[in-house]
Amino acid sequence: MADETITPGMQRYVDEAKAYLAKRDRYIQETVKKWRFDTIAVHGLYSVQEAIEDYQGSIIEPIFMSTSQAYRDSDEMAAALAYMIPTWCYSRIANPSTYYYEWTLALLETYGFGGEASCCSTSSGMAAVMTAVQPFLVTAKSPTEPRNFVATAQCYGGTFQQFSVRMAEERGIECRWVQDPTNIDEWASKIDKNTRLLYGELPSNPGLGFFDIEKVADLAHSHNLPLIVDSTVATPALMRPICHGADIVVQSATKSMTSSGFGVCGAVIARKGLHTNIDNEHLKNDFGLYVKYLPNRDYGPNLHPMQAVMTLNDVRTLRSKMDLLSCNTMKVARYLEEHPKVESAQYLGLPNHPLHELASKYMWLVDAEHDERYMKPVNRYGHLMSFCVKGGAEKTRKVFDGLERIWRATDLGRIKSVATIPAISTHQQQGEEGRKIANIPPNMIRLCVGGEHPDDIIADLDQALSQA
Ligand SMILES: *Cc1c(COP(=O)(O)O)cnc(C)c1O
Repeated sequence: MADETITPGMQRYVDEAKAYLAKRDRYIQETVKKWRFDTIAVHGLYSVQEAIEDYQGSIIEPIFMSTSQAYRDSDEMAAALAYMIPTWCYSRIANPSTYYYEWTLALLETYGFGGEASCCSTSSGMAAVMTAVQPFLVTAKSPTEPRNFVATAQCYGGTFQQFSVRMAEERGIECRWVQDPTNIDEWASKIDKNTRLLYGELPSNPGLGFFDIEKVADLAHSHNLPLIVDSTVATPALMRPICHGADIVVQSATKSMTSSGFGVCGAVIARKGLHTNIDNEHLKNDFGLYVKYLPNRDYGPNLHPMQAVMTLNDVRTLRSKMDLLSCNTMKVARYLEEHPKVESAQYLGLPNHPLHELASKYMWLVDAEHDERYMKPVNRYGHLMSFCVKGGAEKTRKVFDGLERIWRATDLGRIKSVATIPAISTHQQQGEEGRKIANIPPNMIRLCVGGEHPDDIIADLDQALSQA
């Protein structure tokens, strides 16, 4: 990547690295890519052989708390720091523990995808959004050149703030909000020659917005723009946008991927050879590695190695967990839908949800056709739902305050059921106007159903609703 002169001493390390990378690539292509989703989730690239050769047989990925790596000599150091060989020179840039995290997430997100992808781990989901979006918003020709990007208005509150305050207000980069992302004409009407990217969240948190990924990806590509998708709510166990044409996926791995609730982390997974009007070959060819080695080296939103392995531990059972949580949520949604004190229940799995059909096109439990229990494809809609309480904001708070088993927390994706009132929490900062465009009514309770027995969650909701 760098054009420093290569000394014969450095060349020795470069050759050694080439042999190592060829061997790794063979292992990925001939072994790992042939596994089913669960096996990739459990093992990733960490093999028995690697454990025995390098890590004293440790059955769990090693946690390297060290800041940096020592080199055998100046030649190895020079080759490493010029990124000519795989290295973890300094943990802000790379680290063995985050390496396993990145490969596992890249492989899961591209399960069933014919092409190649790479992943850059980040310290949080918000850092992942920033990492994915910013490289496309650099000034190109002159600092006064207008720049814009197009994004779904229904999105996570933090994303809304990052785009509308940090980007638009503070940096003059216009964010053009799409109100109805199912309307391709609306997307198209917002694109002009200064547009740098399309961004969409689906299913959106908490509004459960959805759009047709293939159509929006086609539109983006016809303008030589990337489509970036925040797929946090679905996780790769239920949906893999890159397989449907998206260029980059953003994950707040804090959520269902770390369902235990042990900390905050994120990831950017990008297909190699993406669509962009930015003239930067490295960015285009391998976005994941580009952001990892350059922008994120300089900004420093890196993932902690301890967190990487904690998350991997949760990811191993992602598929069966997303199945269980989806089934539990379906049962709870059906109960709430019928409750006399509930104005409406929103869940993509409910047949009367206006986006049910569209969601059913994309949200499938991965490998259900190879699962003894199903032996055929089955739709699963995740564990995010919401419901609106009759009688307005005050009654809503009463129901919320009455919950005993369900935790009141601005959180989602947990193995424990959690609930929040978005208007007073996650979406409080953006004000009434912002909430209106993001479609967040004051009597909405966002509920994320966990792994408890659904009857116990229903009983808790029942007693809370009886108090309103
Ligand atoms: C939580 C969340 C984020 C932000 O992730 P953090 O890990 O909390 O920084 C981004 N997008 C969605 C959809 C989220 O739910």
